[in-house]
Amino acid sequence: VIQVCLPLNALGFVYREAKDALVNAEKLFQLLREKPEIEESPSLPALRVAAGEVVFDNVSFGYEPGRTILHDVSFRIAPGTTVAVVGGSGSGKSTLARLLLRFYDVGGGRISVDGQDIRGVSTRSLREAIGVVPQETLLFNDTIAYNIGYGRAGATMEDIVAAAKAAHIHELIDSLPQKYETPVGERGVKMSGGEKQRIALARAILKNPPLLIFDEATSALDSHSERAIQAELDQLSQNRTALVIAHRLSTVVNANEILVFERGRIIERGTHAALLERGGPYASLWQMQLNGEENADPPRAAHLA
Ligand code: ATP
Repeated sequence: VIQVCLPLNALGFVYREAKDALVNAEKLFQLLREKPEIEESPSLPALRVAAGEVVFDNVSFGYEPGRTILHDVSFRIAPGTTVAVVGGSGSGKSTLARLLLRFYDVGGGRISVDGQDIRGVSTRSLREAIGVVPQETLLFNDTIAYNIGYGRAGATMEDIVAAAKAAHIHELIDSLPQKYETPVGERGVKMSGGEKQRIALARAILKNPPLLIFDEATSALDSHSERAIQAELDQLSQNRTALVIAHRLSTVVNANEILVFERGRIIERGTHAALLERGGPYASLWQMQLNGEENADPPRAAHLA
């Protein structure tokens, strides 16, 4: 067993600009609350989720005419498995998530969930089936209970507490004088990045979606919180179909498939082991990172056996 010591964001090579990434993830979350740009017929049927298979079939897309962002992207996330996407800033990773949530329609090709083209089902039913854990969680100016309960309409206080426990945030909430009725957000109690992500996690746990989009945090968490959240996310993504915009070594190593993006194209794909074996761009970037590790900051190191 070789013990490798790497920074948690060892794929920094794909994330030269963590700040940009944060901004983009925020955009993704804001989009969740925006009205969809797409038009849909009110008579579309609801998505029927079966095993939870996601297929991108020759997907092309551009936000503006004349500028293609994704070129012929094809991949399948088998039910219950995780596909991790890595790539440089602006390579199109978040765009995949926005398209799956149908904030935009594909320019070419199709995206389907359990065999149904997502353009043929109601957007509402599609989004109900997808849990999103954004990189940077924005809390509503409301109580903690509201912020967690937002995950599922009609959630009872018991459900909310159970989700908070599963996300390991219950103890903290319980220690506050107003407990679950404590106001958060701009006008309420300040929460750290890690605490906010736990709220997002509790929301997703409560929603219990068959599909999960997870935009990993690159920064703002101490390494202890990062590892704890990683463990909880691993649990959350078990038996769920997950698309992960990956920043962390552990996720990439464990993903069923890694897609390496460069300027909107998949330039390499496979498991971590297969990609290393292949000795292509992923492997050389990985090697570069290993070499760069010598100067890395020790608290951000992860030990992999
Ligand atoms: P990062 O790692 O920095 O988050 P990313 O790989 O997620 O990047 P995307 O957010 O998918 O990249 O963006 C891909 C490209 O699309 C970028 O060149 C970006 O500038 C462009 N883009 C993103 N959103 C829009 C938009 N709403 N309108 C026009 N162009 C956009």
